[in-house]
Amino acid sequence: MRKLRYNGAVTSMDGSMNRYEAIGTQDGKIVFLGTNQEALNQQWDEKVDLKGAAVLPGFNDTHMHLLHYAMFRRNVPLFGVKTIDEVVERCKARMDAEHPDYLIGMGWNQETMEEGRLLTKEDMDRISTEIPVCMLRTCIHIAACNTVMLEKIRALKNVEPEVMALVDFENGILRENAARLYMDVLPQADDAYVKQLIREGQKELNAAGITCVHSDDLMAIAGMDPIRLIGIYREMEADGELTVRVYEQCLVEPEDFERLKDVRSDPADRTSLFRTGPRKLLQDGSLGAKSAEMIDGYVDERDNHGIPIYTEEELCRRIQAAHVIHMDVAVHAIGDLALKKVCDAMEQAEGANPWADHRHGIVHAQTTTPALLERMKALGLQAYIQPIFIDADMNIIAERVGEEHAKDCYNWKAMLDLGLHVSGGSDCPVEPFNVLDNMRSAITRQNRTGTKTYLPEQALTVEQAVRLFTSDAAWPSRDEAVRGTLETGKQADLVVLDQDLFAIDPDTFPQVKVLETVLNGRTVYRA
Ligand SMILES: [Zn+2]
Ligand SMILES: [Zn+2]
Repeated sequence: MRKLRYNGAVTSMDGSMNRYEAIGTQDGKIVFLGTNQEALNQQWDEKVDLKGAAVLPGFNDTHMHLLHYAMFRRNVPLFGVKTIDEVVERCKARMDAEHPDYLIGMGWNQETMEEGRLLTKEDMDRISTEIPVCMLRTCIHIAACNTVMLEKIRALKNVEPEVMALVDFENGILRENAARLYMDVLPQADDAYVKQLIREGQKELNAAGITCVHSDDLMAIAGMDPIRLIGIYREMEADGELTVRVYEQCLVEPEDFERLKDVRSDPADRTSLFRTGPRKLLQDGSLGAKSAEMIDGYVDERDNHGIPIYTEEELCRRIQAAHVIHMDVAVHAIGDLALKKVCDAMEQAEGANPWADHRHGIVHAQTTTPALLERMKALGLQAYIQPIFIDADMNIIAERVGEEHAKDCYNWKAMLDLGLHVSGGSDCPVEPFNVLDNMRSAITRQNRTGTKTYLPEQALTVEQAVRLFTSDAAWPSRDEAVRGTLETGKQADLVVLDQDLFAIDPDTFPQVKVLETVLNGRTVYRA
Protein backbone atom coordinates (compact mmCIF):
# COMPACT_ATOMS: atom_id res chain seq x y z
CA MET A 1 0.00 0.00 0.00
CA ARG A 2 1.27 3.44 -0.94
CA LYS A 3 0.63 5.82 1.95
CA LEU A 4 1.30 9.53 1.98
CA ARG A 5 1.63 11.79 4.98
CA TYR A 6 1.61 15.43 3.87
CA ASN A 7 1.32 18.93 5.30
CA GLY A 8 3.99 18.10 7.85
CA ALA A 9 7.34 19.35 9.07
CA VAL A 10 9.49 16.38 8.08
CA THR A 11 13.09 16.52 9.28
CA SER A 12 15.21 13.87 7.61
CA MET A 13 18.21 14.00 10.01
CA ASP A 14 20.28 13.12 6.93
CA GLY A 15 23.74 14.65 6.54
CA SER A 16 22.33 17.85 5.01
CA MET A 17 19.41 18.12 7.44
CA ASN A 18 16.97 18.20 4.53
CA ARG A 19 13.43 19.19 5.43
CA TYR A 20 10.27 18.21 3.57
CA GLU A 21 6.53 18.72 3.71
CA ALA A 22 5.53 15.19 2.80
CA ILE A 23 6.72 11.62 3.22
CA GLY A 24 5.44 8.55 1.38
CA THR A 25 5.86 4.91 2.39
CA GLN A 26 5.28 1.59 0.68
CA ASP A 27 6.08 -2.00 1.68
CA GLY A 28 7.83 -0.86 4.85
CA LYS A 29 10.15 1.54 3.06
CA ILE A 30 10.29 5.28 2.49
CA VAL A 31 9.49 5.88 -1.19
CA PHE A 32 8.91 9.62 -1.34
CA LEU A 33 10.11 12.84 0.28
CA GLY A 34 9.25 16.27 -1.08
CA THR A 35 6.79 19.12 -1.20
CA ASN A 36 3.03 18.80 -0.80
CA GLN A 37 2.57 19.69 -4.43
CA GLU A 38 5.00 17.07 -5.72
CA ALA A 39 3.41 14.51 -3.42
CA LEU A 40 -0.18 15.21 -4.39
CA ASN A 41 0.70 14.84 -8.06
CA GLN A 42 1.42 11.16 -7.44
CA GLN A 43 -0.94 8.22 -6.93
CA TRP A 44 -1.46 7.11 -3.30
CA ASP A 45 -3.74 4.50 -1.74
CA GLU A 46 -4.08 6.57 1.41
CA LYS A 47 -3.37 10.22 2.13
CA VAL A 48 -3.06 11.58 5.66
CA ASP A 49 -3.06 15.32 6.34
CA LEU A 50 -0.55 15.87 9.15
CA LYS A 51 -1.95 19.37 9.79
CA GLY A 52 1.50 20.74 10.51
CA ALA A 53 2.68 17.91 12.77
CA ALA A 54 6.39 17.08 12.80
CA VAL A 55 7.95 13.86 11.54
CA LEU A 56 11.30 12.45 12.65
CA PRO A 57 13.01 9.08 12.32
CA GLY A 58 11.62 6.68 14.97
CA PHE A 59 13.39 7.09 18.30
CA ASN A 60 16.08 4.61 19.27
CA ASP A 61 17.22 4.10 22.88
CA THR A 62 20.65 2.46 22.80
CA HIS A 63 20.84 1.19 26.35
CA MET A 64 17.98 0.04 28.48
CA HIS A 65 16.50 -3.03 30.12
CA LEU A 66 13.11 -3.78 28.58
CA LEU A 67 12.25 -6.79 30.73
CA HIS A 68 13.47 -5.20 33.94
CA TYR A 69 11.30 -2.24 33.12
CA ALA A 70 8.28 -4.41 32.33
CA MET A 71 8.71 -6.32 35.58
CA PHE A 72 9.17 -3.22 37.66
CA ARG A 73 6.19 -1.44 36.19
CA ARG A 74 4.16 -4.29 37.67
CA ASN A 75 5.84 -3.67 41.00
CA VAL A 76 5.99 -0.64 43.23
CA PRO A 77 7.58 2.43 41.62
CA LEU A 78 9.53 4.44 44.16
CA PHE A 79 11.02 7.07 41.86
CA GLY A 80 10.88 10.45 43.55
CA VAL A 81 9.91 9.26 47.06
CA LYS A 82 10.85 11.86 49.65
CA THR A 83 10.57 9.94 52.92
CA ILE A 84 10.78 6.40 54.26
CA ASP A 85 7.17 6.67 55.43
CA GLU A 86 6.21 7.31 51.82
CA VAL A 87 7.97 4.09 50.75
CA VAL A 88 6.10 2.14 53.40
CA GLU A 89 2.76 3.72 52.51
CA ARG A 90 3.10 3.05 48.79
CA CYS A 91 3.97 -0.57 49.49
CA LYS A 92 1.11 -1.05 51.91
CA ALA A 93 -1.32 0.46 49.43
CA ARG A 94 -0.20 -2.10 46.85
CA MET A 95 -0.53 -4.94 49.35
CA ASP A 96 -4.04 -3.88 50.31
CA ALA A 97 -5.06 -3.58 46.67
CA GLU A 98 -3.60 -6.80 45.30
CA HIS A 99 -2.57 -9.11 48.16
CA PRO A 100 0.60 -10.22 46.33
CA ASP A 101 2.75 -13.22 47.30
CA TYR A 102 5.82 -11.02 47.32
CA LEU A 103 6.58 -7.35 46.86
CA ILE A 104 9.36 -5.85 44.77
CA GLY A 105 9.88 -2.15 44.31
CA MET A 106 12.41 0.09 42.70
CA GLY A 107 13.64 3.64 42.40
CA TRP A 108 14.36 4.97 45.89
CA ASN A 109 17.43 7.10 46.40
CA GLN A 110 18.57 8.15 49.87
CA GLU A 111 20.33 11.17 48.33
CA THR A 112 16.95 12.72 47.58
CA MET A 113 15.12 11.50 50.69
CA GLU A 114 14.71 13.44 53.93
CA GLU A 115 16.31 10.81 56.16
CA GLY A 116 19.38 10.67 53.90
CA ARG A 117 20.12 7.06 54.81
CA LEU A 118 19.70 3.65 53.19
CA LEU A 119 16.46 1.79 53.82
CA THR A 120 16.88 -0.99 56.38
CA LYS A 121 15.42 -4.33 57.40
CA GLU A 122 13.41 -2.55 60.11
CA ASP A 123 11.82 -0.23 57.52
CA MET A 124 11.01 -3.21 55.31
CA ASP A 125 9.52 -5.17 58.20
CA ARG A 126 7.03 -2.32 58.64
CA ILE A 127 5.69 -3.28 55.19
CA SER A 128 5.28 -6.98 55.92
CA THR A 129 6.50 -9.67 58.25
CA GLU A 130 4.71 -12.34 56.20
CA ILE A 131 5.68 -12.06 52.53
CA PRO A 132 9.17 -11.40 51.08
CA VAL A 133 9.80 -7.71 50.40
CA CYS A 134 12.71 -6.25 48.44
CA MET A 135 13.11 -2.60 47.42
CA LEU A 136 15.86 -1.79 44.94
CA ARG A 137 17.65 1.51 45.00
CA THR A 138 17.47 3.49 41.74
CA CYS A 139 20.95 2.24 40.74
CA ILE A 140 19.83 -1.41 41.17
CA HIS A 141 23.20 -2.12 42.79
CA ILE A 142 21.70 -1.86 46.29
CA ALA A 143 18.50 -3.38 47.68
CA ALA A 144 16.79 -3.37 51.06
CA CYS A 145 14.99 -6.52 52.24
CA ASN A 146 12.65 -7.47 55.05
CA THR A 147 13.35 -10.34 57.42
CA VAL A 148 11.28 -12.87 55.44
CA MET A 149 13.25 -12.12 52.26
CA LEU A 150 16.57 -12.27 54.11
CA GLU A 151 15.78 -15.66 55.61
CA LYS A 152 14.84 -17.01 52.18
CA ILE A 153 18.10 -15.66 50.78
CA ARG A 154 20.04 -17.20 53.66
CA ALA A 155 18.43 -20.55 52.81
CA LEU A 156 19.39 -20.40 49.11
CA LYS A 157 21.66 -23.17 47.97
CA ASN A 158 24.38 -22.78 45.35
CA VAL A 159 25.14 -19.14 46.13
CA GLU A 160 28.85 -18.47 45.91
CA PRO A 161 30.31 -17.50 49.30
CA GLU A 162 31.75 -14.24 47.95
CA VAL A 163 28.28 -13.25 46.74
CA MET A 164 26.65 -14.24 50.03
CA ALA A 165 29.31 -12.13 51.75
CA LEU A 166 27.80 -9.07 50.04
CA VAL A 167 24.55 -9.58 51.96
CA ASP A 168 24.33 -7.42 55.08
CA PHE A 169 21.92 -9.57 57.12
CA GLU A 170 22.17 -7.21 60.07
CA ASN A 171 20.81 -4.18 58.19
CA GLY A 172 18.97 -6.03 55.45
CA ILE A 173 21.03 -4.68 52.54
CA LEU A 174 22.05 -6.51 49.36
CA ARG A 175 24.97 -5.02 47.47
CA GLU A 176 26.36 -5.41 43.93
CA ASN A 177 26.36 -9.07 42.82
CA ALA A 178 24.14 -9.93 45.77
CA ALA A 179 21.55 -7.34 44.72
CA ARG A 180 19.99 -9.88 42.35
CA LEU A 181 19.63 -12.67 44.91
CA TYR A 182 16.04 -11.64 45.58
CA MET A 183 15.17 -13.03 42.14
CA ASP A 184 16.17 -16.54 43.19
CA VAL A 185 13.53 -16.37 45.90
CA LEU A 186 10.67 -15.45 43.55
CA PRO A 187 8.46 -17.96 41.70
CA GLN A 188 10.10 -19.03 38.43
CA ALA A 189 8.95 -17.37 35.22
CA ASP A 190 7.48 -19.30 32.28
CA ASP A 191 7.32 -18.39 28.58
CA ALA A 192 3.80 -16.98 28.74
CA TYR A 193 4.77 -14.64 31.57
CA VAL A 194 7.82 -13.37 29.68
CA LYS A 195 5.85 -12.81 26.48
CA GLN A 196 3.27 -10.84 28.41
CA LEU A 197 6.03 -8.68 29.90
CA ILE A 198 7.43 -7.97 26.43
CA ARG A 199 3.95 -7.06 25.13
CA GLU A 200 3.37 -4.67 28.02
CA GLY A 201 6.82 -3.10 27.71
CA GLN A 202 6.81 -2.58 23.95
CA LYS A 203 3.42 -0.92 24.11
CA GLU A 204 4.81 1.75 26.41
CA LEU A 205 7.89 2.15 24.22
CA ASN A 206 5.78 2.72 21.11
CA ALA A 207 3.72 5.30 22.99
CA ALA A 208 6.97 7.18 23.63
CA GLY A 209 7.81 7.23 19.91
CA ILE A 210 10.39 4.48 20.22
CA THR A 211 10.87 2.03 17.34
CA CYS A 212 14.14 0.47 18.46
CA VAL A 213 15.81 -0.37 21.75
CA HIS A 214 19.16 -1.87 22.58
CA SER A 215 18.12 -3.90 25.56
CA ASP A 216 20.05 -5.87 28.15
CA ASP A 217 17.60 -8.61 29.15
CA LEU A 218 19.20 -12.02 29.08
CA MET A 219 19.80 -12.24 32.82
CA ALA A 220 16.81 -10.15 33.85
CA ILE A 221 14.51 -12.97 34.80
CA ALA A 222 15.34 -15.50 37.47
CA GLY A 223 15.15 -19.05 36.22
CA MET A 224 14.77 -18.06 32.56
CA ASP A 225 17.47 -19.56 30.36
CA PRO A 226 19.05 -16.71 28.35
CA ILE A 227 19.10 -18.78 25.17
CA ARG A 228 15.42 -19.61 25.63
CA LEU A 229 14.71 -15.91 26.03
CA ILE A 230 16.24 -15.30 22.61
CA GLY A 231 13.91 -18.01 21.32
CA ILE A 232 10.92 -16.29 22.91
CA TYR A 233 11.70 -13.00 21.17
CA ARG A 234 12.09 -14.82 17.86
CA GLU A 235 8.80 -16.65 18.33
CA MET A 236 7.04 -13.38 19.00
CA GLU A 237 8.55 -11.89 15.87
CA ALA A 238 7.51 -14.91 13.80
CA ASP A 239 3.98 -14.56 15.20
CA GLY A 240 3.90 -10.90 14.18
CA GLU A 241 3.77 -9.81 17.80
CA LEU A 242 6.85 -7.59 18.04
CA THR A 243 6.17 -3.89 17.57
CA VAL A 244 9.65 -2.63 18.38
CA ARG A 245 13.11 -3.55 17.18
CA VAL A 246 15.15 -5.17 19.92
CA TYR A 247 18.91 -5.28 19.56
CA GLU A 248 19.90 -7.47 22.46
CA GLN A 249 22.94 -6.46 24.49
CA CYS A 250 23.88 -9.99 25.48
CA LEU A 251 24.85 -10.26 29.12
CA VAL A 252 25.62 -13.94 29.75
CA GLU A 253 27.98 -16.02 31.83
CA PRO A 254 30.86 -17.74 29.99
CA GLU A 255 29.09 -21.12 29.76
CA ASP A 256 26.06 -19.48 28.16
CA PHE A 257 28.30 -17.44 25.89
CA GLU A 258 29.38 -20.69 24.25
CA ARG A 259 25.72 -21.52 23.59
CA LEU A 260 25.03 -17.96 22.45
CA LYS A 261 27.56 -18.39 19.66
CA ASP A 262 25.30 -21.02 18.08
CA VAL A 263 22.16 -18.89 18.07
CA ARG A 264 23.45 -15.38 17.61
CA SER A 265 22.11 -13.28 14.75
CA ASP A 266 23.96 -12.92 11.49
CA PRO A 267 25.81 -9.58 11.84
CA ALA A 268 24.71 -8.80 8.26
CA ASP A 269 21.01 -9.14 9.16
CA ARG A 270 19.51 -5.67 8.68
CA THR A 271 15.83 -6.60 8.73
CA SER A 272 14.89 -8.89 11.63
CA LEU A 273 13.15 -7.01 14.41
CA PHE A 274 14.91 -9.04 17.09
CA ARG A 275 18.65 -9.49 16.76
CA THR A 276 21.40 -10.34 19.15
CA GLY A 277 23.83 -7.45 19.34
CA PRO A 278 27.05 -7.00 21.29
CA ARG A 279 28.24 -9.05 24.21
CA LYS A 280 27.37 -6.95 27.26
CA LEU A 281 29.77 -6.83 30.17
CA LEU A 282 29.79 -4.92 33.45
CA GLN A 283 33.06 -3.71 34.88
CA ASP A 284 31.95 -1.64 37.87
CA GLY A 285 29.00 -0.37 39.92
CA SER A 286 27.58 3.12 40.36
CA LEU A 287 28.62 6.51 41.72
CA GLY A 288 25.61 6.66 44.03
CA ALA A 289 26.67 3.44 45.71
CA LYS A 290 30.37 4.43 45.55
CA SER A 291 31.03 1.18 43.72
CA ALA A 292 32.15 2.82 40.45
CA GLU A 293 35.87 2.12 40.02
CA MET A 294 37.71 5.43 40.48
CA ILE A 295 41.42 6.02 39.87
CA ASP A 296 41.69 8.53 42.73
CA GLY A 297 39.00 6.99 44.91
CA TYR A 298 36.22 9.14 46.36
CA VAL A 299 36.64 12.61 47.88
CA ASP A 300 35.66 11.41 51.34
CA GLU A 301 37.19 7.94 50.94
CA ARG A 302 40.38 8.20 48.96
CA ASP A 303 41.21 4.53 49.51
CA ASN A 304 37.89 3.33 48.15
CA HIS A 305 38.48 2.64 44.47
CA GLY A 306 35.07 1.06 43.95
CA ILE A 307 34.12 -2.55 43.31
CA PRO A 308 35.40 -4.25 40.16
CA ILE A 309 33.08 -6.94 38.83
CA TYR A 310 35.83 -8.76 36.94
CA THR A 311 39.54 -9.07 37.52
CA GLU A 312 41.55 -7.58 34.69
CA GLU A 313 42.35 -11.07 33.37
CA GLU A 314 38.69 -12.05 33.41
CA LEU A 315 37.69 -8.82 31.67
CA CYS A 316 40.27 -9.49 28.95
CA ARG A 317 39.11 -13.07 28.57
CA ARG A 318 35.47 -12.08 28.17
CA ILE A 319 36.22 -9.30 25.70
CA GLN A 320 38.53 -11.50 23.65
CA ALA A 321 36.05 -14.38 23.50
CA ALA A 322 33.66 -12.07 21.64
CA HIS A 323 36.28 -10.11 19.72
CA VAL A 324 37.80 -13.21 18.09
CA ILE A 325 34.43 -14.26 16.66
CA HIS A 326 33.80 -10.69 15.48
CA MET A 327 31.07 -10.00 17.96
CA ASP A 328 30.99 -6.43 19.27
CA VAL A 329 31.36 -5.79 22.99
CA ALA A 330 29.60 -3.13 25.08
CA VAL A 331 31.00 -2.70 28.58
CA HIS A 332 29.34 -0.88 31.46
CA ALA A 333 32.00 1.45 32.87
CA ILE A 334 31.02 4.39 35.06
CA GLY A 335 34.28 5.11 36.90
CA ASP A 336 37.44 6.33 35.20
CA LEU A 337 39.39 3.33 36.53
CA ALA A 338 36.86 0.94 35.01
CA LEU A 339 37.11 2.84 31.73
CA LYS A 340 40.89 2.62 31.80
CA LYS A 341 40.77 -1.13 32.45
CA VAL A 342 38.35 -1.63 29.57
CA CYS A 343 40.61 0.42 27.28
CA ASP A 344 43.58 -1.73 28.32
CA ALA A 345 41.65 -4.92 27.64
CA MET A 346 40.38 -3.66 24.28
CA GLU A 347 43.90 -2.72 23.30
CA GLN A 348 45.08 -6.24 24.11
CA ALA A 349 42.24 -7.85 22.19
CA GLU A 350 42.85 -5.66 19.17
CA GLY A 351 46.62 -6.19 19.40
CA ALA A 352 46.25 -9.97 19.41
CA ASN A 353 43.56 -10.13 16.72
CA PRO A 354 43.15 -6.92 14.75
CA TRP A 355 39.55 -6.32 13.64
CA ALA A 356 39.30 -2.98 11.88
CA ASP A 357 35.52 -3.00 11.66
CA HIS A 358 34.69 -3.62 15.33
CA ARG A 359 32.09 -1.45 17.02
CA HIS A 360 33.03 -2.03 20.62
CA GLY A 361 31.89 0.54 23.10
CA ILE A 362 31.54 1.84 26.62
CA VAL A 363 28.12 2.00 28.24
CA HIS A 364 27.81 5.14 30.43
CA ALA A 365 31.40 6.52 30.18
CA GLN A 366 30.50 9.04 32.88
CA THR A 367 33.63 9.91 34.80
CA THR A 368 36.25 10.45 32.17
CA THR A 369 39.39 12.48 31.60
CA PRO A 370 40.50 14.16 28.37
CA ALA A 371 43.25 11.54 28.07
CA LEU A 372 40.78 8.66 28.43
CA LEU A 373 38.51 10.16 25.78
CA GLU A 374 41.53 10.37 23.47
CA ARG A 375 42.17 6.72 24.18
CA MET A 376 38.59 5.81 23.35
CA LYS A 377 39.01 7.66 20.08
CA ALA A 378 42.30 5.91 19.30
CA LEU A 379 40.78 2.51 20.07
CA GLY A 380 37.63 3.25 18.07
CA LEU A 381 35.37 2.83 21.09
CA GLN A 382 31.89 4.29 20.92
CA ALA A 383 30.06 5.82 23.88
CA TYR A 384 26.55 4.78 24.87
CA ILE A 385 25.55 7.79 26.98
CA GLN A 386 22.48 8.63 29.08
CA PRO A 387 22.15 12.44 29.12
CA ILE A 388 19.27 12.25 31.60
CA PHE A 389 21.67 10.82 34.21
CA ILE A 390 22.92 14.34 34.93
CA ASP A 391 19.52 15.13 36.43
CA ALA A 392 20.37 13.17 39.57
CA ASP A 393 24.14 13.00 39.27
CA MET A 394 24.75 16.76 39.11
CA ASN A 395 23.83 16.74 42.81
CA ILE A 396 26.48 14.23 43.82
CA ILE A 397 29.27 14.31 41.26
CA ALA A 398 31.41 16.97 42.99
CA GLU A 399 30.90 15.29 46.38
CA ARG A 400 32.04 12.02 44.91
CA VAL A 401 34.97 13.00 42.70
CA GLY A 402 35.76 16.63 43.65
CA GLU A 403 35.03 19.93 41.88
CA GLU A 404 38.01 19.68 39.53
CA HIS A 405 37.38 16.17 38.24
CA ALA A 406 33.64 16.88 37.99
CA LYS A 407 34.46 19.22 35.10
CA ASP A 408 35.76 16.29 33.05
CA CYS A 409 32.70 14.14 33.65
CA TYR A 410 29.57 13.74 31.51
CA ASN A 411 31.50 15.54 28.77
CA TRP A 412 29.12 14.73 25.95
CA LYS A 413 30.14 17.67 23.76
CA ALA A 414 33.82 16.90 24.18
CA MET A 415 33.10 13.36 22.98
CA LEU A 416 31.34 14.62 19.86
CA ASP A 417 34.03 17.24 19.20
CA LEU A 418 36.62 14.46 19.32
CA GLY A 419 34.66 12.53 16.72
CA LEU A 420 33.62 9.62 18.92
CA HIS A 421 30.51 7.73 17.89
CA VAL A 422 27.99 8.64 20.58
CA SER A 423 24.39 7.50 20.98
CA GLY A 424 21.74 8.12 23.61
CA GLY A 425 19.82 5.90 25.98
CA SER A 426 17.89 5.94 29.23
CA ASP A 427 19.17 2.84 31.02
CA CYS A 428 15.50 2.40 31.89
CA PRO A 429 14.37 1.45 34.54
CA VAL A 430 17.17 3.55 36.06
CA GLU A 431 15.56 6.56 34.32
CA PRO A 432 12.31 6.59 32.33
CA PHE A 433 12.69 6.11 28.55
CA ASN A 434 11.32 9.57 27.85
CA VAL A 435 13.45 10.44 24.81
CA LEU A 436 12.22 14.04 24.68
CA ASP A 437 13.22 14.68 28.29
CA ASN A 438 16.54 12.97 27.64
CA MET A 439 17.16 15.32 24.68
CA ARG A 440 16.21 18.32 26.82
CA SER A 441 18.77 17.27 29.37
CA ALA A 442 21.53 17.03 26.73
CA ILE A 443 20.67 20.48 25.34
CA THR A 444 20.02 22.47 28.51
CA ARG A 445 22.28 20.58 30.94
CA GLN A 446 19.66 21.51 33.54
CA ASN A 447 17.80 19.35 36.01
CA ARG A 448 14.10 18.72 35.44
CA THR A 449 12.99 21.51 37.73
CA GLY A 450 15.30 23.98 35.99
CA THR A 451 16.92 24.98 39.27
CA LYS A 452 20.42 23.74 38.57
CA THR A 453 22.77 23.62 35.58
CA TYR A 454 25.79 21.36 35.23
CA LEU A 455 28.67 22.19 32.85
CA PRO A 456 26.66 24.31 30.38
CA GLU A 457 29.73 24.41 28.12
CA GLN A 458 29.08 20.70 27.46
CA ALA A 459 25.58 21.42 26.11
CA LEU A 460 24.66 19.86 22.77
CA THR A 461 22.77 21.57 19.97
CA VAL A 462 19.20 20.48 19.23
CA GLU A 463 20.46 18.72 16.12
CA GLN A 464 23.13 16.82 18.06
CA ALA A 465 20.65 15.82 20.76
CA VAL A 466 18.10 14.55 18.22
CA ARG A 467 20.84 12.64 16.40
CA LEU A 468 21.76 10.82 19.62
CA PHE A 469 18.39 9.06 19.46
CA THR A 470 17.96 8.80 15.67
CA SER A 471 20.76 8.86 13.09
CA ASP A 472 23.65 8.34 15.51
CA ALA A 473 21.73 5.58 17.28
CA ALA A 474 21.64 3.53 14.07
CA TRP A 475 25.42 3.23 13.97
CA PRO A 476 26.00 0.97 17.02
CA SER A 477 23.92 -1.78 15.41
CA ARG A 478 25.53 -1.18 11.98
CA ASP A 479 22.21 -0.02 10.58
CA GLU A 480 23.17 3.46 9.38
CA ALA A 481 22.60 2.50 5.74
CA VAL A 482 19.05 1.28 6.32
CA ARG A 483 17.55 3.44 9.07
CA GLY A 484 18.07 6.32 11.48
CA THR A 485 17.35 8.99 8.87
CA LEU A 486 14.41 9.68 6.59
CA GLU A 487 15.71 8.98 3.08
CA THR A 488 14.10 7.16 0.19
CA GLY A 489 14.87 3.46 0.27
CA LYS A 490 15.31 3.37 4.04
CA GLN A 491 13.05 1.44 6.41
CA ALA A 492 9.95 3.43 7.33
CA ASP A 493 10.43 3.86 11.08
CA LEU A 494 8.93 7.21 12.02
CA VAL A 495 7.58 9.22 14.87
CA VAL A 496 4.98 11.96 14.43
CA LEU A 497 5.07 14.72 17.06
CA ASP A 498 2.62 17.55 17.68
CA GLN A 499 5.46 20.08 17.59
CA ASP A 500 8.65 20.61 15.63
CA LEU A 501 11.63 20.20 17.97
CA PHE A 502 13.63 22.58 15.79
CA ALA A 503 11.13 25.39 16.29
CA ILE A 504 10.51 25.36 20.04
CA ASP A 505 12.29 26.01 23.32
CA PRO A 506 14.09 22.79 24.40
CA ASP A 507 12.80 23.34 27.95
CA THR A 508 9.37 22.45 26.60
CA PHE A 509 10.39 19.17 24.90
CA PRO A 510 8.85 17.06 27.68
CA GLN A 511 5.45 18.58 26.88
CA VAL A 512 5.64 17.57 23.21
CA LYS A 513 3.15 14.81 22.41
CA VAL A 514 3.81 11.70 20.38
CA LEU A 515 0.91 11.44 17.92
CA GLU A 516 1.92 8.33 16.00
CA THR A 517 4.71 5.77 15.91
CA VAL A 518 5.40 3.82 12.73
CA LEU A 519 7.54 0.69 12.42
CA ASN A 520 8.34 -0.62 8.95
CA GLY A 521 5.50 1.50 7.58
CA ARG A 522 2.97 0.05 10.03
CA THR A 523 1.37 2.19 12.73
CA VAL A 524 2.22 0.70 16.13
CA TYR A 525 0.94 3.59 18.22
CA ARG A 526 -1.60 6.33 17.71
CA ALA A 527 -2.50 8.91 20.36
ZN1 LIG B 1 25.05 -0.06 33.37
ZN1 LIG C 1 21.99 -0.70 32.20
